[in-house]
Amino acid sequence: MKILQTQTLRGPNYWSIRRSKLILVRLDLEELADRPSDTIEGFHDRLVAVLPSLDEHHCSPGCKGGFLSRVREGTMMGHILEHVALELQTLAGMPVGFGRTRETATPGVYQVVIEYQIETAGRYAARAALRLCQSIIEMGTYPQAELDRDLEDLIKMRNDAAQGASTEALVKEAETMGIPWMHLETCDLFQLGYGKHQKRVQAALTSHSNILGVEIACDKEKTKKILAAMGVPVPVGMTIYSFNELAAAIDRLGGYPIVIKPLNGNHGRGITIDIRDWEHAEIGYDRAREVSSGVIVEHFYQGRDHRILVVNHKVVAVAERVPAHVIGDGKLTIRELVDRENQDVRRGTGHDNMLTTIELDDSTDEMLRLQGVTLTTVLPPERVCYLRATANLSTGGIAIDRTDEIHPETVWMAERVSHIIGLDIAGIDVITTDITKTLREADGTIVEVNAAPGLRMHISPSQGVGRNVAAPILQMLFPPNTPTRIPIVSITGTNGKTTTTRLIAHIFSQMYDSVGYTTTDGIYIGGRLVEKGDTTGPQSAQVILQDPTVDIAILETARGGILRSGLAFQHCDVGVVLNVAADHLGLGDIETIDQLARVKAVVAEAVRADGYAILNADDERVADMADQVRGKVAYFSMDADNPLVRSHVQRGGIAAVYTQDYITILQHDWVHRIENVDRVPLTLGGRVPFMIANALAASLAAFVQGVSVEHIRAALRSFRASAQQTPGRMNLFDLGSYHVLVDYAHNPAGYEAVGSFVKNWTGPAIGVVGGPGDRRDEDLIELGKLSATFFDRIIIKEDDDTRGRAWGEVAELIVQGIEQVTLAAKPIVQGFEQVISTAELPATHSIMLNEAEAIAWALDNAPENALVTIFPDNVTRAIELIMARNPIIDNPEAM
Ligand code: ATP
Ligand code: ATP
Ligand code: MG
Ligand code: MG
Repeated sequence: MKILQTQTLRGPNYWSIRRSKLILVRLDLEELADRPSDTIEGFHDRLVAVLPSLDEHHCSPGCKGGFLSRVREGTMMGHILEHVALELQTLAGMPVGFGRTRETATPGVYQVVIEYQIETAGRYAARAALRLCQSIIEMGTYPQAELDRDLEDLIKMRNDAAQGASTEALVKEAETMGIPWMHLETCDLFQLGYGKHQKRVQAALTSHSNILGVEIACDKEKTKKILAAMGVPVPVGMTIYSFNELAAAIDRLGGYPIVIKPLNGNHGRGITIDIRDWEHAEIGYDRAREVSSGVIVEHFYQGRDHRILVVNHKVVAVAERVPAHVIGDGKLTIRELVDRENQDVRRGTGHDNMLTTIELDDSTDEMLRLQGVTLTTVLPPERVCYLRATANLSTGGIAIDRTDEIHPETVWMAERVSHIIGLDIAGIDVITTDITKTLREADGTIVEVNAAPGLRMHISPSQGVGRNVAAPILQMLFPPNTPTRIPIVSITGTNGKTTTTRLIAHIFSQMYDSVGYTTTDGIYIGGRLVEKGDTTGPQSAQVILQDPTVDIAILETARGGILRSGLAFQHCDVGVVLNVAADHLGLGDIETIDQLARVKAVVAEAVRADGYAILNADDERVADMADQVRGKVAYFSMDADNPLVRSHVQRGGIAAVYTQDYITILQHDWVHRIENVDRVPLTLGGRVPFMIANALAASLAAFVQGVSVEHIRAALRSFRASAQQTPGRMNLFDLGSYHVLVDYAHNPAGYEAVGSFVKNWTGPAIGVVGGPGDRRDEDLIELGKLSATFFDRIIIKEDDDTRGRAWGEVAELIVQGIEQVTLAAKPIVQGFEQVISTAELPATHSIMLNEAEAIAWALDNAPENALVTIFPDNVTRAIELIMARNPIIDNPEAM
C-alpha cells in the first residue's frame, strides 16, 4: 500500500464541522485491496503485541476492545492505519480520537481521516502508521526501537510547536470566552478576535502595551531613576561603563555586600548577588559585561524575592520565587538530590513545563563553595542547599503563591508603579524580608519592573493556589460589551456565488466604510482591489479576517477551498447556499451531486446558533440542509407559493420570494416589498430569472443582519451587472445593430441559466462556447447539447488553459453534444442566412479554437438584431474586444 496524497484540514470541513484539525490521507491499498485483516496470518495478535493500548479504542462496537474485535473479524488496512495513527499521537502526549475511513470511487483507494493536535505530528503519524502496519504484515512485527523513535520524533514535534506557557494560557482563556484566535505566523503574533475588533498578543505583550513603557522597563537604570524621583524605594546604586569605575562605585555605595548586574538583562543572566569582596566583584563585573555594556552596581538587599503581577493597573497575583535548591536527607549527595529533583514530571526544558530542569553550571559551583559544600557532599537531613543565587524559574527556581498575603500598601504602590512606568501588564520584582508588611517596615525595595512578565509562576505555582491571570488580561483587551468579532457572511453554491457576494457587499457598503469581500476575481477591502485572482479559499478569507480595518466580511466560499483545507472560520453569522448542480464532479473524490451538496452544506452547518442559514427553497438538496443547521433558517424562492416557504413563514420564519414582479421579504404576517425587478438592473429588467434568485438571496442575507428595507432597495437599484461591477456575469453590451452578452458560465446549470435569457431573445442567437478541460467528458458533451437548444449558430473555441487536455479535445466533445441535437430541426430565424453567406460556412456550428479569433469573427459577422453570447475563458480580454467596438453606454457611471 502507499500514500497517494496528504492534505491538512484546518477548519470546518466535509468530514466534521466541530473537529477542524484533520489530516486527510488518500491511500492506495494496492496488494492489500482484497485482504481484510482476518485473512492476514496472525495480524491481530501481532498488532496487539506492538500497540497493546489499541484496546482502548471503541470504534463502531462502542466499547473497550471494540476496534480490536473489528481487526479480528476482518477490516480493511485503511481503517487500521487510521486507528494506529491516532494511537501513536495519543502515546506521544497528543490525545486524539476522531477518525474516518471511506473507500473512493477508485477501487482499493481509500480516504483516511485522522485528527491531529499538531499538523506536523499528524502527518508524521499517518506515515509512521503505514510503516508500522506494513512491517507487521511483512515481518510479523514492528521493532521496538522503531516505535520508540517514532514516539520520540512525535514528542519533539509537540515540544517544537508548543507555545510558551503565557501565550498558551491567553489563547486558552480566549477560547473559554468564545473569542476566535489565529496564529499570525509571519510575525509570530497571536490575533484575538477578527477584523477591526482584533487585538494582538505575544506572550504578555499586547496591542495595548505602550512602547515608551516597555522601553523604560527594559532599562533598569531609567526605571530606577524615574521611580526614585517619584518616591518609590529602589536599590541604591549606579551604572558604570568601564572596569576603572568599579572600585569608586563600591566606595560610593559604602562598601559590601553588593550586587552586580547587566543594565539590560533578563532571566537572571549575568547577575552576581551578595558580593562581599573585591575578588568576587571583579568576577561579577566580567560576567555582567558579557551581557550588556552598562553594568549596574548596587546595594544588596537581604530578603525574599517576590514578583507582583499588575494587569491594567490592578494587582492580580503575587508569587514568592525561591532559587533552585535541594533539601538533604542524610543519604544522598547533592548531585543525586538534583537528579532526583529533575525527575519531577513538572520540570521540562525552557518555559514548556510548569517548572524548568535544574542545570548545574559555574554559578552553581560558586554557590556551593560559598555554602562550604560540593556536589559529592551528602547533605544532612533538612539542610537547604541553594544551587543558584537568583530565583528565576528559568534557572530551576520555584514559585509560591502569596497573592492573599501582600500588604495593602504594597498593592497600592505596585499599581502606582505600573502607572508611572506606563505598562498595561507589569511584573514588579520586590525584595523584602516580609511581604505581609509594608516595604518600609520590612526593609523592602523594588528591584526592577518587567515588561512582558512570565505568567507561568502565577498560573501554576509550585505551592499555593494557581491564579487565572489570563482572564484579567483578556478583560482588559475586551472589556464587557466590546465586540470581538466582525460579522461573517459566507456564500456558497454551484452558480451565482460571485454575483451574490458582490451584491451583498454592495448592500453593506452603505453602512460600513470598510466591507471586506473575496470572490473569484480577487480580494477587495473598502471598494479597493487588494489582490487579484481566484480568492475563494480560506487563505484569502484570512486576509479579510486579519485586516484591522475591516467592518464586515463577505466571503465567496468555493468547493475547492472547503475540500482542500476547510473553512477559514469556525462559525459564520450568515451562511448562504444558492444551489447545487453538477459541476466539478469527479474532482477531490466527490463523485455525486449528493456528495457535492454535503460539501456546500459545510457553510450552512457552520452558521452560529444565533445566526442564519439562507437556503434556496427551490433546490431540494439545499432546502434539506435545514436539518443540519444549528442556527436559524431563512428561505428564498422564485415561487411565493412554495409550500416550504409558506409553512416556514406561517411558523414565524423569514423568507424572500419573487411575487408580482417584486423582490419581497416575508416575515411572519409582514410583507416587505423591496423592489420591482424592472428597477433592478442586475435582472436585466426581470428577464434573467437566476439573477432574480441571486437578488433574493442577497436581500435576505442583508435583512437577517438587520439592514433596512430602504438600504436593500437602494442597493438593488444601483447595482449593475456591468462589466466593471461584475465582470463576466451577464454583461450585456449594445453595439447598435446587435447586442453582445458576456457570461462566465462554464457548467450545464450555468449554460441553462444563460439559455433562459437567450431563448427570450427575438433576433438570431449566436454562441461562442467552450468548456474547462478538467470536467468529465459527459459534462462537456452536455454543454454542447444545451448550446444546441438555444443558439442558432455556434462557434466552438478552446480555453487558453486546456487544464491537462490536448488542444482541441474539449471542442470535439462539445461538437459531439451539438450533433446529438438535430440542429437542422430548428426553424431558421430571420437574418440567419446572412450569417452563413458572409461566413461562407455551410454548417450551423464550426470550430475556431483561438478564443480571441472566435470572438472577433462572431462580432464581425453578427447579423441585425442578433445576440452574440460569449462564454469566455478570459473575461477581461473578451470585454476589451467588445469595448474596442464602442458599445453604447446608457449609464456611463455604471461602467
Ligand atoms: P528577571 O527578568 O527574570 O526578573 P533580571 O535578569 O531582569 O531577571 P533582576 O530582576 O534585576 O534581573 O534580578 C534578578 C534577581 O536577582 C532578583 O529577582 C533578585 O532575586 C536578585 N537581585 C537583583 N538585584 C538585587 C539587589 N539589589 N538586592 C538583592 N537581590 C537582588
Ligand atoms: P465560480 O464557481 O466560477 O466562482 P460563481 O458561483 O461565483 O462561479 P458567478 O460568477 O456569480 O458564479 O456566475 C457565473 C455564471 O453562473 C453566471 O454568469 C451565470 O451564467 C450563472 N449563474 C449565476 N447565478 C446563477 C444562479 N443563481 N443559478 C444558475 N446559474 C447562475
Ligand atoms: Mg527581575
Ligand atoms: Mg465565483
